[in-house]
Amino acid sequence: MHKYEKIEKIGEGTYGTVFKAKNLETMEIVALKRVRLDQDDEGVPSSALREICLLKELKHRNIVRLHDVLHSERNMTLVFEYCDQDLKKYFDTCGGVIDQQVVKSFMYQMLKGLQFCHNHNILHRDLKPQNLLINKNGELKLADFGLARSFGIPVRCYSAEVVTLWYRPPDVLFGAKLYSTSIDTWSAGCIFAEMTNAGAPLFPGNDVDDQLKKIFKLLGTPTEQSWPGLTKLPDYKPFPPYPPNSMWYHVVPQLSAEGRDLLAQLIIVNPNKRMLADEALQHQYFADFAT
Ligand code: ADP
Ligand code: MG
Repeated sequence: MHKYEKIEKIGEGTYGTVFKAKNLETMEIVALKRVRLDQDDEGVPSSALREICLLKELKHRNIVRLHDVLHSERNMTLVFEYCDQDLKKYFDTCGGVIDQQVVKSFMYQMLKGLQFCHNHNILHRDLKPQNLLINKNGELKLADFGLARSFGIPVRCYSAEVVTLWYRPPDVLFGAKLYSTSIDTWSAGCIFAEMTNAGAPLFPGNDVDDQLKKIFKLLGTPTEQSWPGLTKLPDYKPFPPYPPNSMWYHVVPQLSAEGRDLLAQLIIVNPNKRMLADEALQHQYFADFAT
């Protein structure tokens, strides 16, 4: 720990506090994330540690690098590569205007990072603008990987603030326990829509019911026919039979026809029909895009 000198606090998240710091041996600027553990807990669960250590091997330009894991009996500090800001803060400063080529670039990089993780059988499970970090040179990196998997999907921040439901797919909202990569592609779709609208969230629900209602009012209420197994989900409850809103693409007026088609396939209510990151990267929307 003495190796690092804290510079300033940069974030307060679901599991703890994040600091900008300097490695005094290499002078490298890093982000230190102190994970707070419950007082009465036994310390860092060994299963969590094992999984977090696996993340050290997850090396990709669109995934924030985990340099090191420091832990004592009672707490754990993760040492990450430092990024300039997160996508939420970027939205806050863009003044409601965003270049659609930047959106395409961010979307491409988000899907590249996701594809890499999914190919390594790692799900993110909590993709949202605050967990996407960007650099001044336009690089985007997925952050906050693995903790959701090690510690479970958070319901509350440790500051008792309720965690946002806006990026959760209907299957998870209905209590599905068997997650697959489709959980992340749904979130990617929601973030895609939000990016093209310069930070206006697609489904800003207040609670689980409201969240599902907002989704179904746009995409139509699913049925056992459109989604076999739906009514067997642990927290399933019927909703009014909203028809799909045929004008739904009006919610993303800045998006090209190809972009709307990609979005439509990412936010398919039935998780089994949702597009995979692999397929999304092959989509026509990216045809004019050179990386
Ligand atoms: P939590 O699991 O608590 O949500 P995060 O890893 O998402 O923690 O970090 C919380 C916030 O801190 C992020 O939303 C971001 O603003 C900032 N942050 C996290 N990691 C970095 C980093 N490597 N570089 C710059 N800022 C970061
Ligand atoms: Mg986070």
